Amino acid sequence: MLGGVEAGGTKVVCVIGNGPDEIERTTRIEVAEPEATLAAAVRFFRGAVDDGIVLDAIGVGSFGPVELRPDHPRFGCITNTPKPGWAGTDMVGPFTGVFGVPVGFDTDVNAAAMAEGRWGAARGLGSFVYLTVGTGIGGGAIVDGRLLRGLGHPEMGHVPVPRRPGDTFDGICPFHGDCLEGMASGPAVAARLGRRAEDLGVTDRQATVVLVSWYLAAGVSSLVYALAPERIVVGGGLGSMPGLVAATRAALEDRLGGYPGLPEHEDLDFVAPAGLGGMAGPLGTLVIAERAAAAEVG
Ligand code: ZN
Repeated sequence: MLGGVEAGGTKVVCVIGNGPDEIERTTRIEVAEPEATLAAAVRFFRGAVDDGIVLDAIGVGSFGPVELRPDHPRFGCITNTPKPGWAGTDMVGPFTGVFGVPVGFDTDVNAAAMAEGRWGAARGLGSFVYLTVGTGIGGGAIVDGRLLRGLGHPEMGHVPVPRRPGDTFDGICPFHGDCLEGMASGPAVAARLGRRAEDLGVTDRQATVVLVSWYLAAGVSSLVYALAPERIVVGGGLGSMPGLVAATRAALEDRLGGYPGLPEHEDLDFVAPAGLGGMAGPLGTLVIAERAAAAEVG
């Protein structure tokens, strides 16, 4: 059995299992301060072990930014987050040594990307991008079968985007103001309209789809040109809004302007909804765990 911890901005989801059809246990923890939140996750796994479940490895997928370089002294830690109290939090330490199993670590969106590639909307593809659009905007890329990593992990939500004609909104990113996340994330929509995306009426919803898809297409066009993905998979709360994926695909086709003229860019599923919905991240943490177990053996 594998264990997984998906730490998002507002909730932590823990799972035990081996895949979408083999989930043994799961729990959801509301995010409070770091120590108590992670202690609750450790208790969940300890309870399972006490009940006789044998864990082979644990995978942690965290909101970022995080330190992913294994030889770095801050490996496993959240770095420069504006989320109060969480900067510097060690996301791996609380699980290491407690259960005597390998603990893997990656971002929540990289986890979701791996799950979508294994079981979801990008199954069988060697190169694709998973983009979550919700409380923030973030992405993971698989390029030629491998997760794209370098000094850090991609920060796809913070790419600069052009301003939609007539849009005077300043943007809400604390670092950049009007980057993609600053203009088109859930909190950006809420700030523009004075209420949460979930509470919008029909007219506001339609306007939101037009607006968000325009900005997503602008951001995604950079990813299409830089990474040459075979598909863009869109998840997240706002990303699941009816009509958003189709509108984004159409807006992207406009923005690409027929260059370089690949027919695949016009396919209806070039931009596709996440196949695993909200379970992409939690299931991806099982893939992280599996990789950690394999690395231990190898
Ligand atoms: Zn930004």
